[in-house]
Amino acid sequence: MKNKILLAVGAHPDDMEFGASGTVAKWTKEGATAYYVICTDGSRGSEDPKMTHEKLVKIRREEQEVAARVLGVKKVFFLNHTDTQLVADLVLKEEIAKIIRTVKPDIVITMDPTFYYTSKLDNADSGFVNHTDHRAAALATMDACFPLARDRLTFPHLEKQGLKPHKVTELWLTSFEKEDYLVDISDTFKTKIKALSLHKSQFIDFPAIEKRMTKRARRLGKKKGYKFAENFIRIKLP
Ligand SMILES: [Zn+2]
Repeated sequence: MKNKILLAVGAHPDDMEFGASGTVAKWTKEGATAYYVICTDGSRGSEDPKMTHEKLVKIRREEQEVAARVLGVKKVFFLNHTDTQLVADLVLKEEIAKIIRTVKPDIVITMDPTFYYTSKLDNADSGFVNHTDHRAAALATMDACFPLARDRLTFPHLEKQGLKPHKVTELWLTSFEKEDYLVDISDTFKTKIKALSLHKSQFIDFPAIEKRMTKRARRLGKKKGYKFAENFIRIKLP
């Protein structure tokens, strides 16, 4: 991955730590340059009765900065949309396309925009509804990669600012359900857990989260003979 550029786009601080940080840490270790985009301000993710919107935005931004540093991420772009209200509209798509034209990534990682819910997570008898912001961030990112960042006539004003069209080579989607492409994260699994643990405002019982993440990474890895793995849907763009 030497000389490759990677851009990971999540809706909230911590999204990419959950889904992709083992891979991000692996690639930065190998010499890639990584950037993050966080679409919302994370201002709704708290059950603490004393927490305020403003306080939480600041805390979560700092947590994301520190976690990104642990992973070797060069810069985090915060788009600051209101948490829980993210919409995959042209404003968001242009913001992401602009960053793509700025940092010129080879690979873009985001979530799966088609994933709405599961009734069986990791083959267990419980499920969840995928957060609306996750779907919006993922769809906007997918559209920004293709065709918006690629075609020069889509945002002529960006070109006037010197931001030339850019072709992303691969789009990777973090996925809970569709097992498509497994990355060996045995060497960076500890770093992943460390980065995730730095989102302190989000966890009442981090050991339980660590246990769940370990079980999942081990189960995925088993299929390929890796100790730990992360799973993606890998789309090579023509
Ligand atoms: Zn999230």
